[in-house]
This record gives sequence, C-alpha cells and structure tokens, in this order.
Amino acid sequence: MVILISDAFDASLPGMLSRYGEVTADKNRLPEAEIVLIRSKTKATKEYIDSAPKLKLIIRGGVGMDNIDVAYAKQKGIKALNTPEASSVAVAELAFAMMTAMPNRLIEAHNSTKEGKWLKKELKRTELYQKTLGILGLGRIGVELAKRAKAFDMKIIAYDPYVKTSEYARLLPTLKEMLNISDYVSMHMPLTDETKGMINKETLKEFKNGAYLINTGRGKTVIEADIVEALKSGKLAGYATDVFYSDPPENSPLINAPNALLAPHIGASTHENLLRIGTIVERIISEYSSKR
Ligand code: NAD
Repeated sequence: MVILISDAFDASLPGMLSRYGEVTADKNRLPEAEIVLIRSKTKATKEYIDSAPKLKLIIRGGVGMDNIDVAYAKQKGIKALNTPEASSVAVAELAFAMMTAMPNRLIEAHNSTKEGKWLKKELKRTELYQKTLGILGLGRIGVELAKRAKAFDMKIIAYDPYVKTSEYARLLPTLKEMLNISDYVSMHMPLTDETKGMINKETLKEFKNGAYLINTGRGKTVIEADIVEALKSGKLAGYATDVFYSDPPENSPLINAPNALLAPHIGASTHENLLRIGTIVERIISEYSSKR
C-alpha cells in the first residue's frame, strides 16, 4: 500500500513506516494512497477525498479535526483519526512562553537593544505572580497550562461548560464572570459553531482593562478586527496568537496591530512532540495493517 506523508512530520517517520508499505511525500500520488498523514496544512475536503479513490485512513498528527471533512470521509468508508494526547505539553509551553513574554516586554527589549537604544527606564515590566489566569477551555492543553501557572503562584480560574469539577482551576459558571476578573485569558477550546467568534466586540467589553489575551487554539474563535480595536484602545494590553483565520494569514489586521505577538502556528512543533506523534502514528498504522 502507498502511505502519503502530506505535511511536516519528524524526519524519522518514513523509516519507521517503511515496513508497512511504500512511503512517499509526493502529493501527486494522492490517487494511489491508502493512508494519508496530515497535520494542519493539508485540508482533507470533499474534493480532496474524491481525488483519492484508494484512501482508507486519514491520520491527523495533532488535535483539531477541523481541516478534515469527517462526515464525508465516514460516508466514503474512510476512517479519520488524530493523535490528541501528544501535543498538550508542547502547546501549553508555547501559551506559557507567550504569557511570560508580553508582561516582560521581551520583544520590545530585544528589538530596541538591537537597534542601539537603551530603554532601561522606559521598559517597565509586570509580574505573573498573584495575577489571575482565566483558562477558556479546560481540556488537555488547558490543564497543562494550569499546572505551569500554579508554579508561578497565579490564581487559576476557568470557563468550560463541559467540565464540572477540576483540581486545577476554580470553574466559573459563565464566560462573563471569568473575563471580568482575569488579568490573563488563554484560549484552549476547539473551533465549533459555539466557539466561532467567541471573543468579539461584545465579549471584549467584559475583559478587565489592560488584560492580556493568548490564543493558541484556533484563529476563528476571535474576531480579529475587534481584537485590533481593543489593542488600539488599550482595553487589551496585549494579544499573543499562534493562530489566524488562515495559515498563513492573508490581509490580517493583526500584522500591524500594536502590542500583538504573532507566531506562525508552531504550537505543536516541538522536536519532542513530533517524535511522540510519530510513535502514535506508527501504532495506528500497525493496528490498521494487522486487520487489513
Ligand atoms: P480538549 O478537547 O482536551 O479540550 C478542549 C476543551 O474545550 C474541552 O474541555 C471542552 O469542553 C472545551 N470547550 C468546548 N466548547 C467550549 C466552549 N464553548 N467554551 C469553553 N470551553 C469549551 O482539546 P486540547 O487537546 O486541549 O486542544 C484544544 C484546542 O487547541 C484544539 O481543539 C485545537 O484547536 C488547539 N490546538 C492548537 C495547536 C497549535 O499548534 N496551536 C495544537 C494543538 C491543538
């Protein structure tokens, strides 16, 4: 069988999978592929699936399945699986790095120092210690972030209508109540009809003045133009994001927004995580091959 590796995985993966079939990275061979490995770049749409008549299994290395037309795949008898448990630490560490970089003004410090300026007096920092972190979506990644924030002595609260109890955060019954008292808000829910555009002009009014927002979830859970307005007015002191409406962003107003910290969707891209994903992908393919 042909196994098509369509997106970026660890370099060791083709070698690991070669015992199960012919492994290729040539996307033109999609019509021959029985298994396709994707991350977030490849969009397994209806058209994509229709152009792969031999396809039986799509493996998404990572969490979100929003780049796969799962219902259509199922209709065509194609299984779609992901590796949800692998990426939690990698994404939580990026969210934490972003949450640390903004109040420490690391980007401005670095850029100005390189430009020959010495902003020792101007660059005032603030601490995470004793600040309130509101976690939006207390799932695998949210919990990993909570553990790290606890070590910094932050007060941890969360809003997640599907989680009833947690040892990691004090759950608040409404989004509004969580936003009202959070100094930092970090977003970790999936993109669904319910979460699309969740942070918008109206919900931004509920944030504390000068709060920081971190988004390593999905770009479309915020309204980018409303975020930019909030950054310009000072309602938000900073917005750090790994995710945009599209990868890469096209005409995003965030690119030139003040106090925006932008990353090119690298949340899952740690060396360790790509190895973990590879191990899980191999396990899935091994099970598939044994039943074939
Ligand atoms: P998860 O399923 O373990 O957790 C998601 C949580 O969101 C769940 O607890 C769920 O109850 C909650 N949720 C759902 N709807 C909600 C709502 N309306 N309001 C508040 N909470 C809600 O998933 P995870 O592994 O923690 O991943 C979370 C998301 O992170 C993924 O869906 C994906 O979009 C994103 N992600 C991004 C990267 C990246 O590279 N930046 C990598 C992996 C995952």
